[in-house]
This record gives sequence, structure tokens and C-alpha cells, in this order.
Amino acid sequence: MTGVRLPAEFEKRMQDMLKDAYPAFLHSYDNEKKSALRVNTLKGTVDEFFENSGFDGLKPVIWEQRGFYYNEEMRVGKHPLHEAGAYYIQEPSAMAPAAYLEAEPGEKVLDLCAAPGGKSTQIASYMENKGLLVCNEVNPARAKILSENVERMGIKNALVINEQPQRLAEMFAGYFDRILVDAPCSGEGMFRKNEEAVNEWSLENVRSCAQRQDMILSCADIMLRAGGRLVYSTCTFSPEENEGSIARFIESNPDYEIVEVRRYEGMISGNPDYGYPHCGLKELERTLRLFPHMVEGEGHYAAVLQKGGEVPAGYKAFLANGVQTGIKPKDIKELMEFANEALNVKLFDEKRGCILNFGGQLYLMPDDMPSIDRLKVLRAGLHLGTLKKNRFEPSHALALALRPYEAGKVYTLSDDEAASFINGQTISADKELEKGWYLMVYRGYSLGWGKLAGQMIKNHYPKGLRK
Ligand code: SAM
Repeated sequence: MTGVRLPAEFEKRMQDMLKDAYPAFLHSYDNEKKSALRVNTLKGTVDEFFENSGFDGLKPVIWEQRGFYYNEEMRVGKHPLHEAGAYYIQEPSAMAPAAYLEAEPGEKVLDLCAAPGGKSTQIASYMENKGLLVCNEVNPARAKILSENVERMGIKNALVINEQPQRLAEMFAGYFDRILVDAPCSGEGMFRKNEEAVNEWSLENVRSCAQRQDMILSCADIMLRAGGRLVYSTCTFSPEENEGSIARFIESNPDYEIVEVRRYEGMISGNPDYGYPHCGLKELERTLRLFPHMVEGEGHYAAVLQKGGEVPAGYKAFLANGVQTGIKPKDIKELMEFANEALNVKLFDEKRGCILNFGGQLYLMPDDMPSIDRLKVLRAGLHLGTLKKNRFEPSHALALALRPYEAGKVYTLSDDEAASFINGQTISADKELEKGWYLMVYRGYSLGWGKLAGQMIKNHYPKGLRK
């Protein structure tokens, strides 16, 4: 009776699990999926978004104050403000785990399974560009998308890498204050959204996902400092991958406690009887299940864990590789000239070795960034731009990380001009303007760079992103 063709064995398992609630669960497959966006508070407050964006009729997602449901007819994925990183389109239930991580500015946070970056970009908004956010993804193609999303959202303090969890565990023992494990899973909770997940489903796959989750969690444990917070999440219903993964983890790591967290309307508690192998761990009731017939979102599971012990005052995390050293901005004449001309803000301390130079590509590192010597790195902080012969050309990432008041010169785009700009067209200024770099701004959000000569603004919107 549903529009989605469900595997018979999956249906049987869900029936056993949900009993009387099973018909309501099955019925949820006939309903429209819910779509939501998350306002990017690195680029302005939620109130500013509502004032400037012109978006009406958004309805709050109760577990994430930056999250809002929208109507599909709004086509928010096609809007120039999407390209400006004013918001991230994210499945509403998927907003819960990063909200429970409660990352704070200045901390060291790891998102271990991060692509395409929904939760990483959410964590970044909690961190307000302070501290270090390591976003890791094992799949190289997916890591590239993650890196692009980190750029679009204007994140300055992210180190984006492409590594196996086991390798990271060798280098980052006890290093992180908080870790998110949004584990690769059998994806049962996404059947309404993703037909591929339905076709790939099998009981063997559920079991092999559970084994992989055990491995990933044990790596996360090595990297979490004493007293740190670990959030585990999946988008599946299978007990083996949810309560089961947490039960097995706690069995081998009894120093962890499952944290009791706020349960929003519609969320229900995890079931101790689902512990696999059956363990009856009562605290599993503190974990959370989101079912599509009970919340406005897809299926999800989340567990918030606190590692035992306390960090002694003055503790410095041990880093097998040490801290990355860099060049002082004052030693890069072209960068200093650009900053003096085009920026209204002190983006870096001129005397600190905070710049990395990869063959002419300059990056501004987050403070105390770990050495990247042995890591596969896609992005080491904020990409500032490229050193060319006797000059510096700013990057798109820098434009997207700047607020309008931080740029020396700003050009405000109309609706039509914004569409032309992201299409790669030259903009003609209607009056005589001072020549140089302009931050191109649309409805209060930066969209990219333009360079004015005469009355024409040359378009520096990246060719690969043009629409
Ligand atoms: N957190 C992401 C977000 O919010 O956009 C979604 C992550 S998705 C549920 C799980 C990710 O884990 C996938 O990108 C997948 O490539 C990755 N993954 C697969 N095998 C892995 C492994 N052995 N270790 C770590 N991550 C793995």
C-alpha cells in the first residue's frame, strides 16, 4: 500500500519492532517527505536572514533553532542565496545529532564521517569560527563535496581531510573535546527519500554495517579526551546498528556514560531490549529514536555519550605529529597589499606564522592547527587566494567567508544582477566607481568577487560553479 517498494524481510523486522504502531509507520511512506533548511549563522543571525532573504512561510524545526521547514515550491536549492551559503538544505531529523554535540567556540572537534557536510557545517555554526573543526571523510569523491560545502558556508576554522579512522587514531590520541560519529549505516530511515538505499538493503549489509560501526567507534574512543562528549548517530532503524552498537561499545568501554538529553516532541527513547547481543542495558533508554510517523522528518537514531575522567588544568593534548608551522603574513608582500586595499577587517595577525603556502595557494590556518605532514588534506583552514606574479588574487572561499562590512568595497547586486553574476556575466556599474576588488553582495550575503576597471565589473565567480 505504500509508494515505496520495501524489502519483505525489512517489513517483517519493523513489524516485530513496532507492533501496534506498525500500520502508522507504514502509512508514513505515503506522505510527502519533509524538506528543511538550516540558516548559516556564520553569515548573519536567524533574524537577519528573515529580514534580508525575503523567504516567507518557513516553520521551525523544534530541535535545531537554526532549522526551518520549507515548501518544495520555494525551490530554495536554485536560489542565489543558496550559492551564497546563507543556508544549508538538510533533512530535518539529521539536524538533531550535531545539535546534541553542543560544540563550543574554541574547542577541538572531530566529525569523523563527515561528507557531504550537513553536520560539519552545522557544528561550525556552533563554533563561530573559533577553535578547530576537523572534518574527515574516507571516500575521496565525497570528501571533495564536503570541502566545497565547507567553502560555500564560509567556514574559517575547518581542516578537511580524507583518511581512514584507524590512521587518524594513530595520530590524534586523546586530542578532541567532542567527536561526532554519524556512522555509515544501512540507511533504512532514508527509504522514503532514497531508492538506492532500498535496493541495497539486506540483512548481511545490516550486520556488516554494525561491524564497521564498532571499528569506527573504537577509533573515536582513542581520539576523545577524558571527560569529552561523543555523539553517535545513524539514519537507520535496525537494532544491531543502533542500541546494539552502543551496547557493544559500552560493554568494551565501561568508562562511558549515556547522557540523558532533552527529548523533543515525537522523539522516543531507545529500547534496551534491542541491545545486541541482548544485554538489557537500562541506560539505552537515554538514547533517542526518531520515527517518521512520530516526528516531522525521516528515521534517525542518536546516542550522546560522555567519557569518564577529567582533564587536569593546563592539560595540552598530545599530538603525535606536533603543531603545523606557517609563514608570517607580513613576509608575503602581495597578500599584505591586497589586505590593505580590499579588507576592512584584521583577518590575521601579521606577525604570526599562520599562513600555509601550497605552491602559491595561500591558506589561513586555524590557531594551533595540527601538523598536516602525513594527512591527505583538502582544505587547511581558510583558502585566501593565489599568489600570482607580483600580485595576489583572492579566492572565492575568502569572499564567502567575509561579511559585507568586512570588505573595503562592496557592490550590491539586484535580483537580476545576482542571477547574471552566478551565470558568469560581466556587470556594468551605472556610475563611476573606484577601481579594484569588490565584494559582490546580494540581500546582505556575499556571493563572490568582482574586479572593477572602467565601468565594467569583471566576474570572478568560479567557472565550475556557474549556473
Ligand atoms: N555526516 C554526514 C552529513 O551530515 O552530511 C553524513 C555521513 S554518512 C551518514 C556516513 C559517511 O561515512 C559516508 O560519507 C561514508 O562515505 C563514510 N564512511 C564509509 N565508510 C567509512 C569508514 N570505514 N570509516 C569512516 N567513514 C566511513
